[in-house]
Amino acid sequence: MGSQFAGNSGWRKLDVGVIGGGIGGLSVAISLRRAGHKVTIYERADFAGEKGASVSCAANGTRWLEEWEIDVQKGDPVYLKKLISRDWYTGEPYSVYDLADYEKRWGYVYWMFHRQYMHAMLKEAALAEEGKGEAAKLLVNHKCKSIDMEANKIEFDNGVTATHDLIIGADGIGSAVRGVLGIHPEKRPGPASCLHANVMTEDAVRLGLTDYSKDNALEYWGGQEGKFDKIVLSPCNGGKLLSYYCFFPRDKGDYTSHTWGGDDLPVEELLAPYPELDRRVREHLAIGIEVQPWRLWIHDPYPYMNKKNVAILGDAAHPMMPHQSQGACMAIEDAAALGIVFNQKYFNGNVAEALEIYSQVRLPRVTKVQAAAAKAAYNINERIGFSSNTDVEGYKVEDESKKLTVEEMNGYDMYKDVEEKIAAQKGQPWTEKFITGLPIGLQLSNGVTIGA
Ligand SMILES: Cc1cc2nc3c(=O)[nH]c(=O)nc-3n(C[C@H](O)[C@H](O)[C@H](O)COP(=O)(O)OP(=O)(O)OC[C@H]3O[C@@H](n4cnc5c(N)ncnc54)[C@H](O)[C@@H]3O)c2cc1C
Repeated sequence: MGSQFAGNSGWRKLDVGVIGGGIGGLSVAISLRRAGHKVTIYERADFAGEKGASVSCAANGTRWLEEWEIDVQKGDPVYLKKLISRDWYTGEPYSVYDLADYEKRWGYVYWMFHRQYMHAMLKEAALAEEGKGEAAKLLVNHKCKSIDMEANKIEFDNGVTATHDLIIGADGIGSAVRGVLGIHPEKRPGPASCLHANVMTEDAVRLGLTDYSKDNALEYWGGQEGKFDKIVLSPCNGGKLLSYYCFFPRDKGDYTSHTWGGDDLPVEELLAPYPELDRRVREHLAIGIEVQPWRLWIHDPYPYMNKKNVAILGDAAHPMMPHQSQGACMAIEDAAALGIVFNQKYFNGNVAEALEIYSQVRLPRVTKVQAAAAKAAYNINERIGFSSNTDVEGYKVEDESKKLTVEEMNGYDMYKDVEEKIAAQKGQPWTEKFITGLPIGLQLSNGVTIGA
Protein backbone atom coordinates (compact mmCIF):
# COMPACT_ATOMS: atom_id res chain seq x y z
CA MET A 1 0.00 0.00 0.00
CA GLY A 2 1.44 3.41 -0.95
CA SER A 3 3.06 5.35 1.89
CA GLN A 4 1.40 8.50 0.53
CA PHE A 5 -1.73 7.43 2.46
CA ALA A 6 -0.14 6.60 5.79
CA GLY A 7 -0.54 8.65 8.96
CA ASN A 8 -3.35 11.11 8.37
CA SER A 9 -2.78 13.23 11.46
CA GLY A 10 -6.07 15.08 10.91
CA TRP A 11 -8.26 12.06 11.75
CA ARG A 12 -10.94 12.86 14.31
CA LYS A 13 -13.86 11.01 15.81
CA LEU A 14 -17.12 12.08 14.19
CA ASP A 15 -20.61 12.21 15.60
CA VAL A 16 -22.63 10.68 12.76
CA GLY A 17 -26.40 10.76 12.19
CA VAL A 18 -27.78 8.02 9.91
CA ILE A 19 -31.33 8.51 8.64
CA GLY A 20 -33.02 5.18 7.95
CA GLY A 21 -32.46 1.83 9.65
CA GLY A 22 -32.81 -0.50 6.65
CA ILE A 23 -30.10 -2.73 5.24
CA GLY A 24 -28.00 0.25 4.11
CA GLY A 25 -28.42 2.30 7.29
CA LEU A 26 -27.50 -0.59 9.58
CA SER A 27 -24.54 -1.51 7.36
CA VAL A 28 -23.11 2.01 7.46
CA ALA A 29 -23.58 2.11 11.22
CA ILE A 30 -21.44 -1.04 11.41
CA SER A 31 -18.72 0.23 9.07
CA LEU A 32 -18.50 3.66 10.74
CA ARG A 33 -18.47 2.36 14.32
CA ARG A 34 -15.64 0.07 13.26
CA ALA A 35 -13.82 3.09 11.79
CA GLY A 36 -13.94 4.72 15.24
CA HIS A 37 -16.99 6.99 15.00
CA LYS A 38 -20.06 7.56 17.16
CA VAL A 39 -23.26 6.66 15.27
CA THR A 40 -26.94 7.34 15.91
CA ILE A 41 -29.53 5.78 13.57
CA TYR A 42 -32.91 7.48 13.20
CA GLU A 43 -35.69 5.27 11.82
CA ARG A 44 -39.19 6.48 11.01
CA ALA A 45 -40.86 3.09 11.68
CA ASP A 46 -40.85 0.85 14.71
CA PHE A 47 -39.81 -2.20 12.65
CA ALA A 48 -42.95 -4.12 13.61
CA GLY A 49 -44.38 -4.53 10.15
CA GLU A 50 -41.70 -6.00 7.83
CA LYS A 51 -42.97 -8.92 5.76
CA GLY A 52 -40.86 -11.68 4.36
CA ALA A 53 -38.93 -11.69 1.10
CA SER A 54 -35.53 -12.94 0.08
CA VAL A 55 -32.40 -10.84 -0.26
CA SER A 56 -29.37 -12.33 -1.92
CA CYS A 57 -25.80 -11.46 -1.06
CA ALA A 58 -23.23 -12.24 -3.73
CA ALA A 59 -19.47 -12.33 -3.02
CA ASN A 60 -19.15 -8.56 -3.43
CA GLY A 61 -21.54 -8.09 -0.47
CA THR A 62 -20.41 -11.10 1.56
CA ARG A 63 -16.81 -9.83 1.62
CA TRP A 64 -17.92 -6.86 3.74
CA LEU A 65 -20.05 -8.96 6.09
CA GLU A 66 -16.91 -11.00 6.73
CA GLU A 67 -14.66 -7.97 7.07
CA TRP A 68 -17.13 -6.61 9.63
CA GLU A 69 -16.91 -9.96 11.51
CA ILE A 70 -20.65 -10.60 11.22
CA ASP A 71 -21.84 -14.06 12.16
CA VAL A 72 -23.82 -14.74 8.97
CA GLN A 73 -25.29 -17.94 10.39
CA LYS A 74 -27.51 -15.70 12.52
CA GLY A 75 -29.21 -14.76 9.23
CA ASP A 76 -30.10 -18.45 8.65
CA PRO A 77 -28.94 -18.23 5.03
CA VAL A 78 -28.91 -20.70 2.16
CA TYR A 79 -25.52 -21.36 0.56
CA LEU A 80 -26.28 -21.05 -3.13
CA LYS A 81 -24.73 -23.66 -5.42
CA LYS A 82 -26.16 -22.67 -8.80
CA LEU A 83 -28.03 -20.08 -10.79
CA ILE A 84 -30.51 -21.89 -13.05
CA SER A 85 -32.41 -20.27 -15.89
CA ARG A 86 -35.31 -22.47 -17.08
CA ASP A 87 -37.57 -22.62 -20.09
CA TRP A 88 -40.92 -20.93 -19.40
CA TYR A 89 -43.11 -23.78 -20.66
CA THR A 90 -41.16 -26.94 -19.88
CA GLY A 91 -38.96 -25.92 -16.96
CA GLU A 92 -35.95 -27.47 -18.73
CA PRO A 93 -32.68 -25.71 -17.78
CA TYR A 94 -31.75 -23.16 -20.45
CA SER A 95 -28.59 -21.71 -18.89
CA VAL A 96 -26.90 -22.90 -15.69
CA TYR A 97 -24.19 -20.96 -13.88
CA ASP A 98 -22.45 -23.35 -11.53
CA LEU A 99 -21.14 -21.77 -8.33
CA ALA A 100 -18.95 -24.80 -7.46
CA ASP A 101 -15.71 -22.82 -7.82
CA TYR A 102 -17.22 -19.46 -6.81
CA GLU A 103 -15.76 -19.28 -3.30
CA LYS A 104 -12.39 -20.55 -4.52
CA ARG A 105 -12.31 -17.92 -7.27
CA TRP A 106 -13.63 -14.94 -5.34
CA GLY A 107 -12.92 -15.83 -1.72
CA TYR A 108 -16.53 -15.42 -0.55
CA VAL A 109 -19.77 -17.34 -0.97
CA TYR A 110 -23.12 -16.42 -2.47
CA TRP A 111 -25.73 -16.32 0.33
CA MET A 112 -29.49 -16.06 0.16
CA PHE A 113 -31.05 -14.45 3.21
CA HIS A 114 -34.57 -13.81 4.38
CA ARG A 115 -35.00 -10.06 4.59
CA GLN A 116 -36.11 -9.98 8.24
CA TYR A 117 -33.30 -12.29 9.35
CA MET A 118 -30.67 -10.30 7.47
CA HIS A 119 -32.03 -7.11 8.99
CA ALA A 120 -31.93 -8.59 12.51
CA MET A 121 -28.38 -9.87 11.94
CA LEU A 122 -27.16 -6.41 10.85
CA LYS A 123 -29.06 -4.68 13.65
CA GLU A 124 -27.38 -6.83 16.24
CA ALA A 125 -23.92 -6.15 14.75
CA ALA A 126 -24.58 -2.39 14.71
CA LEU A 127 -26.01 -2.10 18.23
CA ALA A 128 -24.14 -4.78 20.21
CA GLU A 129 -21.83 -3.62 22.97
CA GLU A 130 -19.30 -6.25 21.92
CA GLY A 131 -17.48 -5.81 18.63
CA LYS A 132 -15.08 -3.20 17.29
CA GLY A 133 -15.84 0.44 18.08
CA GLU A 134 -18.61 2.09 20.02
CA ALA A 135 -22.10 0.50 19.83
CA ALA A 136 -24.42 2.50 17.57
CA LYS A 137 -27.68 3.91 18.99
CA LEU A 138 -31.04 3.35 17.27
CA LEU A 139 -33.94 5.77 17.75
CA VAL A 140 -37.20 4.53 16.20
CA ASN A 141 -40.26 6.66 15.38
CA HIS A 142 -37.98 9.44 14.16
CA LYS A 143 -38.99 10.52 10.67
CA CYS A 144 -36.63 13.03 9.09
CA LYS A 145 -38.49 16.11 7.91
CA SER A 146 -35.69 18.42 6.85
CA ILE A 147 -31.99 19.14 7.21
CA ASP A 148 -30.31 22.51 7.65
CA MET A 149 -27.12 21.88 5.68
CA GLU A 150 -25.37 24.98 7.02
CA ALA A 151 -25.91 23.98 10.64
CA ASN A 152 -25.71 20.17 10.06
CA LYS A 153 -29.03 19.96 11.88
CA ILE A 154 -31.75 17.35 11.31
CA GLU A 155 -35.37 18.08 12.12
CA PHE A 156 -37.76 15.19 12.77
CA ASP A 157 -41.55 14.94 12.48
CA ASN A 158 -41.83 14.40 16.24
CA GLY A 159 -40.31 17.83 16.95
CA VAL A 160 -36.87 16.52 17.91
CA THR A 161 -33.77 18.10 16.36
CA ALA A 162 -30.22 16.72 16.25
CA THR A 163 -26.86 18.09 15.11
CA HIS A 164 -24.13 15.86 13.67
CA ASP A 165 -20.71 16.24 12.03
CA LEU A 166 -21.75 13.90 9.23
CA ILE A 167 -25.28 13.02 8.08
CA ILE A 168 -26.02 9.95 5.97
CA GLY A 169 -29.36 9.55 4.20
CA ALA A 170 -30.11 5.82 4.09
CA ASP A 171 -33.83 6.44 3.83
CA GLY A 172 -34.70 4.25 0.87
CA ILE A 173 -36.30 4.86 -2.50
CA GLY A 174 -38.59 7.66 -1.28
CA SER A 175 -35.65 9.46 0.40
CA ALA A 176 -36.24 12.82 2.07
CA VAL A 177 -32.48 13.45 2.33
CA ARG A 178 -32.10 13.17 -1.45
CA GLY A 179 -34.43 16.15 -1.85
CA VAL A 180 -32.35 18.11 0.67
CA LEU A 181 -29.33 17.51 -1.59
CA GLY A 182 -31.27 19.05 -4.45
CA ILE A 183 -31.95 15.83 -6.35
CA HIS A 184 -35.56 15.55 -7.50
CA PRO A 185 -35.89 12.42 -9.64
CA GLU A 186 -38.14 12.07 -12.61
CA LYS A 187 -39.59 8.63 -11.98
CA ARG A 188 -41.80 6.52 -14.19
CA PRO A 189 -43.45 3.15 -13.70
CA GLY A 190 -41.42 0.23 -15.08
CA PRO A 191 -42.76 -1.81 -17.99
CA ALA A 192 -43.33 -4.83 -15.74
CA SER A 193 -45.26 -5.51 -12.55
CA CYS A 194 -44.15 -7.78 -9.73
CA LEU A 195 -46.04 -9.83 -7.17
CA HIS A 196 -44.21 -11.67 -4.42
CA ALA A 197 -45.38 -14.84 -2.68
CA ASN A 198 -43.91 -17.21 -0.13
CA VAL A 199 -44.24 -20.99 -0.35
CA MET A 200 -43.42 -23.17 2.65
CA THR A 201 -41.27 -26.09 1.47
CA GLU A 202 -43.01 -28.46 3.88
CA ASP A 203 -46.40 -27.59 2.33
CA ALA A 204 -45.06 -28.29 -1.18
CA VAL A 205 -43.50 -31.60 -0.10
CA ARG A 206 -46.67 -32.67 1.75
CA LEU A 207 -48.65 -32.15 -1.45
CA GLY A 208 -46.15 -34.16 -3.50
CA LEU A 209 -44.91 -31.15 -5.47
CA THR A 210 -41.33 -30.70 -6.69
CA ASP A 211 -38.93 -30.01 -3.82
CA TYR A 212 -37.01 -27.06 -5.25
CA SER A 213 -35.26 -26.43 -1.95
CA LYS A 214 -32.96 -29.38 -2.76
CA ASP A 215 -31.43 -27.46 -5.68
CA ASN A 216 -29.89 -24.81 -3.37
CA ALA A 217 -30.24 -22.54 -6.38
CA LEU A 218 -31.52 -19.17 -7.42
CA GLU A 219 -33.90 -20.29 -10.20
CA TYR A 220 -35.54 -18.39 -13.02
CA TRP A 221 -38.30 -19.24 -15.43
CA GLY A 222 -38.57 -17.07 -18.55
CA GLY A 223 -37.14 -13.58 -18.88
CA GLN A 224 -35.83 -14.57 -22.30
CA GLU A 225 -36.46 -13.26 -25.80
CA GLY A 226 -37.38 -9.75 -24.72
CA LYS A 227 -40.33 -10.91 -22.60
CA PHE A 228 -41.09 -9.52 -19.16
CA ASP A 229 -42.75 -12.72 -17.90
CA LYS A 230 -40.34 -14.12 -15.34
CA ILE A 231 -40.49 -16.12 -12.13
CA VAL A 232 -37.59 -15.86 -9.69
CA LEU A 233 -37.34 -18.48 -6.96
CA SER A 234 -35.04 -17.88 -3.97
CA PRO A 235 -34.74 -20.47 -1.21
CA CYS A 236 -34.16 -18.93 2.22
CA ASN A 237 -34.21 -19.85 5.91
CA GLY A 238 -32.08 -22.91 5.30
CA GLY A 239 -34.45 -23.95 2.46
CA LYS A 240 -37.61 -24.00 4.61
CA LEU A 241 -39.06 -21.02 2.78
CA LEU A 242 -39.25 -20.42 -0.98
CA SER A 243 -39.56 -16.78 -1.93
CA TYR A 244 -41.09 -16.18 -5.38
CA TYR A 245 -40.82 -12.90 -7.29
CA CYS A 246 -43.27 -13.04 -10.19
CA PHE A 247 -42.95 -10.52 -13.02
CA PHE A 248 -45.36 -9.87 -15.90
CA PRO A 249 -46.01 -7.01 -18.35
CA ARG A 250 -47.77 -4.11 -16.67
CA ASP A 251 -50.69 -4.31 -19.09
CA LYS A 252 -51.54 -7.71 -17.53
CA GLY A 253 -51.90 -6.07 -14.09
CA ASP A 254 -50.87 -2.65 -12.84
CA TYR A 255 -49.72 -2.40 -9.22
CA THR A 256 -47.88 0.92 -9.44
CA SER A 257 -50.14 2.56 -6.89
CA HIS A 258 -50.13 -0.39 -4.44
CA THR A 259 -47.72 -0.62 -1.54
CA TRP A 260 -46.07 -3.56 0.14
CA GLY A 261 -47.61 -4.18 3.55
CA GLY A 262 -51.33 -3.94 2.76
CA ASP A 263 -53.76 -6.89 2.88
CA ASP A 264 -52.48 -10.04 1.16
CA LEU A 265 -53.78 -10.41 -2.39
CA PRO A 266 -55.73 -13.51 -3.50
CA VAL A 267 -53.56 -16.22 -5.06
CA GLU A 268 -55.76 -16.16 -8.20
CA GLU A 269 -54.32 -12.73 -8.94
CA LEU A 270 -50.84 -14.22 -8.81
CA LEU A 271 -51.73 -17.07 -11.18
CA ALA A 272 -53.78 -15.07 -13.69
CA PRO A 273 -50.90 -13.86 -15.91
CA TYR A 274 -49.37 -17.34 -16.22
CA PRO A 275 -51.67 -19.83 -18.00
CA GLU A 276 -48.76 -21.44 -19.89
CA LEU A 277 -46.11 -21.52 -17.18
CA ASP A 278 -44.29 -24.81 -16.41
CA ARG A 279 -46.89 -26.80 -14.47
CA ARG A 280 -44.49 -27.74 -11.64
CA VAL A 281 -43.71 -24.20 -10.60
CA ARG A 282 -47.29 -23.06 -11.23
CA GLU A 283 -48.42 -25.66 -8.67
CA HIS A 284 -46.08 -24.02 -6.19
CA LEU A 285 -47.51 -20.56 -6.85
CA ALA A 286 -51.01 -21.98 -6.32
CA ILE A 287 -50.12 -22.65 -2.66
CA GLY A 288 -48.39 -19.28 -2.28
CA ILE A 289 -49.09 -17.20 0.83
CA GLU A 290 -48.54 -13.54 1.75
CA VAL A 291 -49.02 -12.39 -1.85
CA GLN A 292 -47.82 -8.77 -1.99
CA PRO A 293 -47.11 -6.30 -4.79
CA TRP A 294 -43.60 -4.91 -5.21
CA ARG A 295 -43.77 -1.57 -6.97
CA LEU A 296 -41.28 -1.10 -9.78
CA TRP A 297 -40.42 2.49 -10.59
CA ILE A 298 -37.58 3.47 -12.87
CA HIS A 299 -35.28 6.26 -11.70
CA ASP A 300 -32.58 7.50 -14.04
CA PRO A 301 -29.12 7.74 -12.41
CA TYR A 302 -28.68 10.74 -10.12
CA PRO A 303 -25.80 13.15 -10.81
CA TYR A 304 -24.14 12.98 -7.37
CA MET A 305 -24.39 11.38 -3.93
CA ASN A 306 -23.13 14.13 -1.59
CA LYS A 307 -23.21 17.81 -0.77
CA LYS A 308 -21.31 19.52 2.04
CA ASN A 309 -21.44 17.17 5.06
CA VAL A 310 -24.39 15.09 3.86
CA ALA A 311 -24.40 11.98 1.65
CA ILE A 312 -26.94 9.42 0.51
CA LEU A 313 -26.56 5.67 0.05
CA GLY A 314 -28.46 2.55 -1.03
CA ASP A 315 -31.90 2.95 -2.59
CA ALA A 316 -31.92 6.65 -1.64
CA ALA A 317 -28.92 7.17 -3.94
CA HIS A 318 -29.48 4.65 -6.73
CA PRO A 319 -32.77 2.77 -6.75
CA MET A 320 -32.54 -0.08 -9.22
CA MET A 321 -34.61 -2.77 -10.81
CA PRO A 322 -34.23 -6.07 -8.95
CA HIS A 323 -32.99 -8.12 -11.93
CA GLN A 324 -29.30 -8.30 -10.95
CA SER A 325 -30.18 -9.03 -7.27
CA GLN A 326 -27.66 -6.33 -6.36
CA GLY A 327 -29.80 -3.73 -4.54
CA ALA A 328 -28.77 -4.87 -1.09
CA CYS A 329 -25.15 -5.57 -2.14
CA MET A 330 -24.82 -2.06 -3.56
CA ALA A 331 -26.11 -0.59 -0.27
CA ILE A 332 -23.56 -2.71 1.61
CA GLU A 333 -20.78 -1.58 -0.74
CA ASP A 334 -21.79 2.07 -0.19
CA ALA A 335 -21.55 1.49 3.54
CA ALA A 336 -18.14 -0.12 3.11
CA ALA A 337 -16.91 2.84 1.06
CA LEU A 338 -17.97 5.28 3.79
CA GLY A 339 -16.22 3.13 6.41
CA ILE A 340 -13.05 3.32 4.33
CA VAL A 341 -12.99 7.03 3.48
CA PHE A 342 -13.54 7.87 7.16
CA ASN A 343 -11.04 5.34 8.56
CA GLN A 344 -7.85 6.13 10.47
CA LYS A 345 -5.73 5.82 7.36
CA TYR A 346 -7.55 7.98 4.81
CA PHE A 347 -9.69 10.53 6.67
CA ASN A 348 -7.83 13.84 7.09
CA GLY A 349 -10.54 15.56 9.13
CA ASN A 350 -12.33 17.21 6.20
CA VAL A 351 -15.78 15.60 5.95
CA ALA A 352 -16.83 17.17 2.64
CA GLU A 353 -13.56 16.12 0.97
CA ALA A 354 -13.99 12.53 2.13
CA LEU A 355 -17.57 12.51 0.80
CA GLU A 356 -16.25 13.66 -2.59
CA ILE A 357 -14.08 10.55 -2.72
CA TYR A 358 -17.07 8.42 -1.66
CA SER A 359 -19.18 9.77 -4.49
CA GLN A 360 -16.39 9.38 -7.07
CA VAL A 361 -15.84 5.77 -6.06
CA ARG A 362 -19.48 4.76 -5.90
CA LEU A 363 -21.27 6.60 -8.69
CA PRO A 364 -19.70 4.90 -11.75
CA ARG A 365 -20.06 1.43 -10.29
CA VAL A 366 -23.66 1.75 -9.10
CA THR A 367 -24.67 3.44 -12.35
CA LYS A 368 -23.36 0.50 -14.35
CA VAL A 369 -25.19 -2.00 -12.15
CA GLN A 370 -28.37 0.10 -12.35
CA ALA A 371 -28.27 0.06 -16.16
CA ALA A 372 -27.49 -3.66 -16.26
CA ALA A 373 -30.39 -4.38 -13.90
CA ALA A 374 -32.80 -2.63 -16.27
CA LYS A 375 -31.50 -4.66 -19.23
CA ALA A 376 -31.73 -7.97 -17.38
CA ALA A 377 -35.46 -7.29 -16.86
CA TYR A 378 -36.23 -8.68 -20.31
CA ASN A 379 -33.03 -10.57 -21.15
CA ILE A 380 -31.76 -13.11 -18.65
CA ASN A 381 -28.45 -13.33 -20.58
CA GLU A 382 -27.58 -9.86 -19.21
CA ARG A 383 -27.75 -11.13 -15.62
CA ILE A 384 -24.34 -11.51 -13.91
CA GLY A 385 -23.40 -15.18 -14.04
CA PHE A 386 -25.59 -16.01 -17.03
CA SER A 387 -23.71 -13.23 -18.84
CA SER A 388 -20.65 -15.55 -18.73
CA ASN A 389 -22.52 -18.43 -20.44
CA THR A 390 -21.86 -17.22 -23.96
CA ASP A 391 -22.06 -20.70 -25.51
CA VAL A 392 -25.70 -21.22 -24.53
CA GLU A 393 -28.01 -21.59 -27.54
CA GLY A 394 -29.87 -18.33 -28.15
CA TYR A 395 -27.39 -16.31 -26.06
CA LYS A 396 -27.52 -12.65 -27.05
CA VAL A 397 -26.85 -9.37 -25.20
CA GLU A 398 -27.29 -5.78 -26.28
CA ASP A 399 -23.58 -4.91 -26.35
CA GLU A 400 -21.06 -7.65 -25.55
CA SER A 401 -18.26 -5.29 -24.50
CA LYS A 402 -20.52 -3.37 -22.11
CA LYS A 403 -22.38 -6.20 -20.40
CA LEU A 404 -21.92 -6.57 -16.65
CA THR A 405 -19.62 -9.45 -15.71
CA VAL A 406 -19.02 -11.49 -12.59
CA GLU A 407 -15.31 -10.63 -12.83
CA GLU A 408 -15.77 -6.87 -12.35
CA MET A 409 -18.31 -7.39 -9.58
CA ASN A 410 -16.16 -9.78 -7.56
CA GLY A 411 -12.60 -8.93 -8.67
CA TYR A 412 -13.01 -5.35 -7.45
CA ASP A 413 -10.72 -3.94 -4.73
CA MET A 414 -12.45 -0.96 -3.14
CA TYR A 415 -9.39 0.06 -1.12
CA LYS A 416 -7.41 0.50 -4.34
CA ASP A 417 -10.23 2.47 -5.92
CA VAL A 418 -10.34 4.82 -2.91
CA GLU A 419 -6.56 5.24 -2.97
CA GLU A 420 -6.57 6.04 -6.69
CA LYS A 421 -9.21 8.74 -6.17
CA ILE A 422 -7.39 10.21 -3.15
CA ALA A 423 -4.16 10.36 -5.16
CA ALA A 424 -6.00 12.28 -7.90
CA GLN A 425 -7.57 14.61 -5.30
CA LYS A 426 -4.07 15.38 -3.96
CA GLY A 427 -2.64 15.73 -7.47
CA GLN A 428 -0.30 12.78 -6.86
CA PRO A 429 0.63 10.12 -9.42
CA TRP A 430 -1.08 6.71 -9.25
CA THR A 431 1.42 3.93 -9.79
CA GLU A 432 -0.33 0.81 -8.49
CA LYS A 433 -1.43 -1.84 -10.95
CA PHE A 434 -5.15 -1.15 -10.55
CA ILE A 435 -7.61 0.94 -12.54
CA THR A 436 -10.79 1.95 -10.66
CA GLY A 437 -10.21 -0.94 -8.28
CA LEU A 438 -9.78 -3.61 -10.96
CA PRO A 439 -6.37 -5.28 -11.31
CA ILE A 440 -4.58 -4.58 -14.58
CA GLY A 441 -4.66 -7.76 -16.63
CA LEU A 442 -8.00 -9.01 -15.23
CA GLN A 443 -9.89 -10.65 -18.09
CA LEU A 444 -13.60 -10.03 -18.15
CA SER A 445 -15.99 -12.45 -19.83
CA ASN A 446 -16.99 -9.67 -22.24
CA GLY A 447 -13.58 -9.93 -23.90
CA VAL A 448 -12.19 -6.81 -22.23
CA THR A 449 -8.84 -7.00 -20.41
CA ILE A 450 -8.37 -4.31 -17.77
CA GLY A 451 -5.65 -1.89 -18.80
CA ALA A 452 -5.16 -3.43 -22.27
C1 LIG B 1 -40.01 -6.30 -0.57
C2 LIG B 1 -38.62 -6.10 -1.06
C3 LIG B 1 -37.86 -7.20 -1.48
C4 LIG B 1 -36.54 -7.03 -1.94
N1 LIG B 1 -35.82 -8.11 -2.35
C5 LIG B 1 -34.52 -7.96 -2.74
C6 LIG B 1 -33.70 -9.05 -3.14
O1 LIG B 1 -34.14 -10.20 -3.18
N2 LIG B 1 -32.39 -8.82 -3.46
C7 LIG B 1 -31.85 -7.56 -3.41
O2 LIG B 1 -30.64 -7.39 -3.66
N3 LIG B 1 -32.61 -6.51 -3.09
C8 LIG B 1 -33.92 -6.69 -2.75
N4 LIG B 1 -34.66 -5.63 -2.41
C9 LIG B 1 -34.04 -4.36 -2.52
C10 LIG B 1 -33.16 -4.19 -1.35
O3 LIG B 1 -33.84 -4.64 -0.20
C11 LIG B 1 -32.80 -2.75 -1.29
O4 LIG B 1 -32.05 -2.40 -2.43
C12 LIG B 1 -31.96 -2.53 -0.06
O5 LIG B 1 -32.69 -2.96 1.06
C13 LIG B 1 -31.66 -1.06 0.04
O6 LIG B 1 -31.47 -0.74 1.37
P1 LIG B 1 -31.71 0.71 1.92
O7 LIG B 1 -31.27 0.64 3.33
O8 LIG B 1 -31.10 1.68 1.00
O9 LIG B 1 -33.26 0.97 1.82
P2 LIG B 1 -34.45 0.33 2.66
O10 LIG B 1 -34.16 -1.10 2.96
O11 LIG B 1 -35.69 0.67 1.93
O12 LIG B 1 -34.42 1.11 4.05
C14 LIG B 1 -34.79 2.45 4.18
C15 LIG B 1 -35.16 2.69 5.63
O13 LIG B 1 -35.32 4.09 5.85
C16 LIG B 1 -36.51 4.32 6.58
N5 LIG B 1 -36.96 5.67 6.24
C17 LIG B 1 -37.53 6.08 5.08
N6 LIG B 1 -37.77 7.41 5.11
C18 LIG B 1 -37.34 7.85 6.32
C19 LIG B 1 -37.31 9.13 6.94
N7 LIG B 1 -37.77 10.22 6.31
N8 LIG B 1 -36.80 9.24 8.18
C20 LIG B 1 -36.31 8.14 8.84
N9 LIG B 1 -36.32 6.89 8.29
C21 LIG B 1 -36.82 6.75 7.04
C22 LIG B 1 -37.43 3.21 6.14
O14 LIG B 1 -38.49 2.98 7.07
C23 LIG B 1 -36.48 2.03 6.02
O15 LIG B 1 -36.30 1.35 7.23
C24 LIG B 1 -35.99 -5.74 -1.97
C25 LIG B 1 -36.76 -4.65 -1.54
C26 LIG B 1 -38.07 -4.81 -1.09
C27 LIG B 1 -38.89 -3.62 -0.63
